[in-house]
Amino acid sequence: MATTTGTLYIVSAPSGAGKTSLVKALIDSEAQIRVSVSHTTRAMRPGEVDGVNYHFVDHTQFNAMLERSEFLEHAQVFDNLYGTSQKWVEQTLAEGFDLILEIDWQGAQQVRKLMPQAKSIFILPPTQEALRHRLTNRGQDSGEIIERRMREAVSEMSHYVEYDYLVINDDFNHALSDLKAIFRSNQLSQTQQQQRHAGLLSELLA
Ligand code: 5GP
Repeated sequence: MATTTGTLYIVSAPSGAGKTSLVKALIDSEAQIRVSVSHTTRAMRPGEVDGVNYHFVDHTQFNAMLERSEFLEHAQVFDNLYGTSQKWVEQTLAEGFDLILEIDWQGAQQVRKLMPQAKSIFILPPTQEALRHRLTNRGQDSGEIIERRMREAVSEMSHYVEYDYLVINDDFNHALSDLKAIFRSNQLSQTQQQQRHAGLLSELLA
């Protein structure tokens, strides 16, 4: 039985800012943090695994989940649908884990309305040029698609003001330690520590 309820974190970033690698490094080093696996109608990319990167579903399956109100939030990003399972989020938080939702600004707005206590983090690239360089170096897309992705990135980044924390991903290790500091400081907050150390606190005040 968990003694604490976990904290919900929203992490957003434009494509190419390094969000997925940073979140992976964070959860690999912190046993207390989980990341939500979203449902999406997007096609699987090389190297992706169903159930690990995403639950890959078709439009019929996605719409059936939507009709059954199974999503905490959902959005169309670029040309695809994405959604977060409400049941999984509730269960994971109730088990005491901190939970990260890697979602876009539209999903972030929906989650903030439903769970105002959620903490939100926006990851930014150090410069526009660095972002363009990262998108180009993936080698997957034509120049035209890269320009479209750049415009979409600028539009996503314009929402940074809605977030509690900003992390600039210039140096990977520096950005990772900034992320860890955000999580650690919340774990040390009075409300979290009060739940975690209820026994100690009642003994100290006896
Ligand atoms: P990608 O297809 O490149 O993995 O992700 C594209 C965008 O969709 C990213 O901005 C990512 O954060 C967002 N995204 C991924 N899963 C979800 C989700 O469940 N909900 C929302 N709203 N956005 C998501």
